[in-house]
Amino acid sequence: MGLVVQKFGGTSVGSAERILHVAERVIEERNRGNDVVVVVSAMGKTTDSLVTLASEINPKPSKREMDVLLSTGEQITISLLSMALQAKGVDAISYTGWQAGIETEDVHGNARIVKIQTEKVQEQLQQGKVVVVAGFQGVTDTGDITTLGRGGSDTTAVAIAAALKADKCDIYTDVTGVFTTDPRFVKSARKLLAISYDEMLELANLGAGVLHPRAVEYAKNYQVPLVVRSSMEQEEGTIIEEEVSMEQNLVVRGVAFEDNITSVTVFGLRNPLTSLSTIFTTLASHHINVDIIIQSLTNDQLTNLSFSIKDSDLEETLNVLEENKAELGYDKVTSEQGLAKVSIVGSGMISNPGVAADMFKVLSQEKIIIKMVSTSEIKVSTVIEKEKMVKAVEILHDAFELSKLPVHV
Ligand code: ASP
Ligand code: MG
Repeated sequence: MGLVVQKFGGTSVGSAERILHVAERVIEERNRGNDVVVVVSAMGKTTDSLVTLASEINPKPSKREMDVLLSTGEQITISLLSMALQAKGVDAISYTGWQAGIETEDVHGNARIVKIQTEKVQEQLQQGKVVVVAGFQGVTDTGDITTLGRGGSDTTAVAIAAALKADKCDIYTDVTGVFTTDPRFVKSARKLLAISYDEMLELANLGAGVLHPRAVEYAKNYQVPLVVRSSMEQEEGTIIEEEVSMEQNLVVRGVAFEDNITSVTVFGLRNPLTSLSTIFTTLASHHINVDIIIQSLTNDQLTNLSFSIKDSDLEETLNVLEENKAELGYDKVTSEQGLAKVSIVGSGMISNPGVAADMFKVLSQEKIIIKMVSTSEIKVSTVIEKEKMVKAVEILHDAFELSKLPVHV
């Protein structure tokens, strides 16, 4: 007899009917002879509604109280799912994060799990119960409720699977698996049967919303085999594991994209030795996330620096630069909004040179100007105009032969 952790996202538990349906999926797993721990998200758009509600009360609610508020969403679901299981004759018990022993660091709104005390959950499993755990939340060592960041229920599921040494962790969601690109934008997107942790991590960090990046990181660190699959359809999902055989020798396995990117350029930085470190230390201290960075030295020994940020960080970035102008020592700042990032990801790049060159060629043939580039061992990202984003994704998806993959159901 094995142990399986199942996770159901917000859409999958979005109504009473769906919760009853989820109970059936849990029972199916039990009938395969496995012990089951279920991790659930808040129902439907509950978390969003709670965020809105808070903003109507206080434009700057304290992070501690936000965590107390947001953690209620998952608490609703665990009780209802336990009731659904009990109604179907299955012994079940619900636990909030702290009841399940999920200890986090002392950070509100985006805490990391530091330890899971599994005794209680294990005891209940031994008594033959299904244990239903609230995702996305934990408790600090001083007893404060924390949350793990939006989408954090995935991380709860993987962390519990790791702590309990579960045989696998099934992430049930509203899509049937991990796709080569977003099927809502690109008709020829294909479901992948398998993808490596590293590739998935790149895709998740590049905005593929299907899994929380930290959950993938956790799964890789603890070697938890993950499966992403549909809670509605009886389709085979996508397995995420360490080594993946190259499906049809794919060099690229996914095309990710994200809009709302702004590039900022600082001209005429005067101190080549310290200006970079000062600028990015200052931005980091204001929690501004910088993505791609390009630096060039001009003929007159000044430095020009461009970097990309999220649109929403522009105002603060400009303020921070202005406020520190004297210390940073530069001539002027410009910015360009309305940009997007399009990236290709695949472990096959490690052993196949020329992938970036192919990408640039394909984009230039379509007259798409590349404004910024960044690469890792298994990814090439380009920043282009937002208007060209979907077109770029389509042509790259075709060029790297992802559209030719068989349709898996
Ligand atoms: N309910 C939380 C959110 O909407 C956590 C999750 O669903 O994973 O972000
Ligand atoms: Mg999610």
